[in-house]
This record gives sequence, C-alpha cells and structure tokens, in this order.
Amino acid sequence: MMKNKKVIIIGGGPAGMMAAITAAENSSDVILMEKNSEVGKKLRITGGGRCNVTNSGSPTDIMEKVVSNSKFLYKSLNAFTSKELMELIERKGCPLKVEEKGKIFPVSDNSGDVIKVFEELLEEKRVKIYLQCEAKDIVVEDNKVVGVKTSDQKVFLCDAVILATGGVSYPHTGSTGEGHTISKTLGHGVSSLKPSLISMEIREKWLTEMTGISLNSVVIKTRIGKKTIAVDGDLLFTHYGISGPSVFQLSTYLNKVDLPQEGHEISVDFVPKVTQEELKERFISSEYSNKQISTILTEYWPKKFITGLLDKLNIDHSMSMNQLIKKDRNKLMNALKEFKITVLRLRSVKDAIVTSGGIAVKEVNPATMESKLIKGLFFAGEVLDVDALTGGYNLQIAFSTGYVAGMNSVE
Ligand SMILES: Cc1cc2nc3c(=O)[nH]c(=O)nc-3n(C[C@H](O)[C@H](O)[C@H](O)COP(=O)(O)OP(=O)(O)OC[C@H]3O[C@@H](n4cnc5c(N)ncnc54)[C@H](O)[C@@H]3O)c2cc1C
Repeated sequence: MMKNKKVIIIGGGPAGMMAAITAAENSSDVILMEKNSEVGKKLRITGGGRCNVTNSGSPTDIMEKVVSNSKFLYKSLNAFTSKELMELIERKGCPLKVEEKGKIFPVSDNSGDVIKVFEELLEEKRVKIYLQCEAKDIVVEDNKVVGVKTSDQKVFLCDAVILATGGVSYPHTGSTGEGHTISKTLGHGVSSLKPSLISMEIREKWLTEMTGISLNSVVIKTRIGKKTIAVDGDLLFTHYGISGPSVFQLSTYLNKVDLPQEGHEISVDFVPKVTQEELKERFISSEYSNKQISTILTEYWPKKFITGLLDKLNIDHSMSMNQLIKKDRNKLMNALKEFKITVLRLRSVKDAIVTSGGIAVKEVNPATMESKLIKGLFFAGEVLDVDALTGGYNLQIAFSTGYVAGMNSVE
C-alpha cells in the first residue's frame, strides 16, 4: 500500500534519477529538483559520450574496484546489482553490450540513449521534474527534515530529502559541491575533496613534446612510504604531462599523500611482459645485430617517442645494435624497463573524472543511505565519500545508492 510520503530529490544525475524512480514506486508525490535545464548533463559526457554505464562483474568484483569506503557500499551494491541495472535499461529498449574488462555500453555507443531511458522512467512513474530549480537549504525541525528552500526563496514542504548533488568535478555539468555546503550546515562532516582518476603534471619538459602519443599496456611502479604500488594500462602524453588509464589508477594512490615540492618519482616499464634478461638476449641476438637501433624500436613504439628517447640517452639513431657499446645498451634497457618520470602534481579536482572525499560515511546508514544525524535526510551518489576505478563502477555506485535511498525514503 502506498504510504504517500512526500519526497524531494536534489540533483538530476544518475543517482538522483534512480532515487526518484524508485521512490515513485511507493509514493505519488516525488519531486526531482535539478538546477540545469536538463537532467543527466554529466551522464551525457561519460565514457567519451558512449557511457560506460556499469560493469558485468558481481557485486564482490565491483567492491574490489572501489577505492574509498568499499565496505560501506556492500549493502547497496547487493541491493541493486549491475545485472538489475542492465535489465532495467534493456527492458526500456536500450540494448547493451559488454566490452573489455566487463565494461558495459549501450549498443548504440550513445549516452543519450541511456538518458532517454531514465527520462521515460521518470515520466512513467509521474515524478515531477523541476528544471532550473536550485536547492539552497534543507529545512530541519526537531532533527527531522521538513522541507527544501530554493535559491528563489521558495520553501517546498516534504517528509524526506535525498541529496544527490554529485562531487565537484567538471563543475560546468552542475556538480559544484552545494550538497556538501548544505550538509555541513546541518552538522555533517565532509572529508577533504580531492581529484581522483586524474592526469598529472610532470617535470620532464621533453616528454610534454610527445603530446598525443599513447603507449599501450605499460606498468607504472612507485613507492608510497614503505609500500610499492604497481598499476597497468595505457599511458598518454599530454602538453602538461601524463594521462590515460594507468595514470588514472595511479592517481587514486597519489591523491592520498602530499607530493614533495621537488616532485615524486615514478618508474614506467614499457615492456612489462619481457624480463630484463630476455630483453638483453633479444638485443644481442643475431636477428637484431645488423639492424639499426631506431628501426628495431620503431617496430614497437611511435617514431617520435623513440627519436626523443634516443636523443635523451645520447645514442646515435643510425647505429646498428652490434655497434652499441655495453654501457649504452644497458642505458637503453634500463630506459625501457625502468623509465623515470617526476610527477610534480595532480591536475585540479575540476578536471578529475571523480571527486574523492565527500559526506563522511560513518554518519550515514549503509543499509538505507539515511543520515544518522537527521531523520528523513538521505544521500546518494558521488556526494558521498566513495569513489572507484574506471570501468563503469562509479555509475553503478550512483545507481545502487540512488536505489537504496529512494526505496527507504518512502518508508
Ligand atoms: C568526463 C567524465 C566521464 C565519466 N565517465 C564515466 C563512465 O563512463 N562510467 C562511470 O561509471 N563513471 C564515469 N564518470 C563518473 C560519473 O559520471 C559520476 O560518478 C556520476 O555522474 C555521479 O553521479 P551523481 O548522480 O552522484 O552526480 P552528478 O552526475 O554529478 O549529478 C549531480 C546533479 O545534481 C545537480 N545539482 C547540484 N547541486 C544542485 C542544487 N543545489 N540544486 C539542484 N540540482 C543540483 C547537478 O546539476 C547535477 O545534474 C565520468 C565522469 C566524467 C567527468
């Protein structure tokens, strides 16, 4: 039986839309407030416009890819799984496909089709959508939510509020951190907001001339305190430094420490599948001996990169492998196996794929997403102190926490 609680959801991203649809299953009075003139503005640019909407892994697999507060997400990731999300999207006529590492995309490669699914569901469930409507405050009486005040000073009364305002990354999409400000005024702790899945600026100027060059399947190693970290994936050179999947992964570790002013050393293995010994054997093999060094290396790596590397090592490009003295051969092998780069800083949180940090999860009930401090206040999505690696995991977190908040807001 419908309890008909009046619920207001603040934020029309994936978390807010999912929360609204779920709440509307059990209430005919659900309002979704979105300050943009459209819902899902960030969702549209996800996955390079293709939207890596989730991952085919089990809830346990997904939890392993969560960087911050994975245990907090155990209940929600199990309450609404990626399988259930996929079924929901496909049922609404948007077929999905699996790509490498279990990444799920719409067959159309168009994020607009995923947004359309949610717009249709919002309409079907009769959610009232207020666009260009910015929430400024949550009105609380006797430690219980009673309403939402908007920037034009109107007050909307309600029984429950779901705060789904996102993080502070890509602020032009609407994620500008207002949810954190509002929560702080209500007494909630917000852990410091840092960039995650972010590119890095580096000291080595000559490498920034390699802009646009992408090197496949490298392994990056570094030490943080006593721990050795190793991440793998492609590496992309940019006009300011390095980017790409391997660097994004590395950022989830480096954003937890203060980098020294002189920079932090990382070491890149460009041939992780080949040991130092095997590389040496190949270099001195008869197959390579009469071949020019640059000809051999450009079979594997872009010419511009090899030219820059050989120049840096002071090795004559036109030399054949058998003319290379042992010292230079070792120098070249070391450069390919343990190439040193100095990271100066991570780029700004505004440019990050996700925000690390947010509403302190110890103040939120993981089974319901309700605040432990204020009755009737719920949280969903990136506004919380949760973040994961790339692969569709961050959107699944948004949908799962949105589902749980929506479900419990009407109880
Ligand atoms: C370039 C890019 C690519 C990405 N690609 C992927 C991907 O392929 N797969 C993946 O899993 N993740 C991806 N992500 C991450 C993912 O997009 C986010 O984690 C996800 O959108 C978070 O959802 P959310 O609903 O919590 O917040 P958001 O999507 O940020 O939505 C929050 C909404 O709240 C609104 N809002 C904010 N304040 C107010 C207010 N005061 N009043 C009213 N409305 C308000 C905002 O306008 C916004 O629409 C990507 C992120 C970026 C930046």
